[in-house]
Amino acid sequence: VDEELTMDFVFAPPPASSVAVYGDTRRFPVRRIFCVGRNYAAHAREMGRDPEREPPFFFMKPADAVVDSGAVVPYPAQTENLHHEIELVVALKKGGANVTPEGARDLVFGYGVGIDLTRRDLQLQARDAGRPWDWGKGFDFSAPCAPLHRIEETGWLQSGRIWLSVDGVTRQDADISQLIWNVAEVISAISQSMRVEAGDLIFTGTPEGVGALAPGAEVRGGIDRLGEIALTIGPPASR
Ligand code: MN
Repeated sequence: VDEELTMDFVFAPPPASSVAVYGDTRRFPVRRIFCVGRNYAAHAREMGRDPEREPPFFFMKPADAVVDSGAVVPYPAQTENLHHEIELVVALKKGGANVTPEGARDLVFGYGVGIDLTRRDLQLQARDAGRPWDWGKGFDFSAPCAPLHRIEETGWLQSGRIWLSVDGVTRQDADISQLIWNVAEVISAISQSMRVEAGDLIFTGTPEGVGALAPGAEVRGGIDRLGEIALTIGPPASR
């Protein structure tokens, strides 16, 4: 070990956040989690907004909000309206700034199925008060993500069914071809504002049909060619 490169910390740094990789024992290290707001027209309308007039906008979750498929997610504190949002997740293997939509393809490691768990009551209070969305979006366990599928395996995804069910009842059922801003455009847009980096995950937005989850809910979702995600909503976490 090169002494010059050995860093001392005042306490042990936390373990890297990570997501499983399909068919690989190694995991994908998560650097940041970007999320796109209102990226399907019908969902923008159900949230009371006009989808035609908006350029893409973003919010973030902490990297350690990721949770593997199969987890029991404790019902979060300070909400009475926990919502599911099934989303196509894009994982980056390379960084870049000011990339074009064409160039963005070179940065993609692969895709996954994710759920943007949302404390909808806190998010809407914040939205309507002109405050940040963080408390509604970036809480513990708020970014479940199924194993990532490599782009070499899936090819460039342009379409495919995206769906979510709760206790066996379908709640969300759409197609990723309905994204207002597609994956390449989303990566390009983020990179105009800040560098994207290897390890970044991007939750690309949810279609219509978002709704509430109660403790005990069994949540399943999937995207064609990317497999499925499953979650159980547990009792409130004891803190
Ligand atoms: Mn979302």
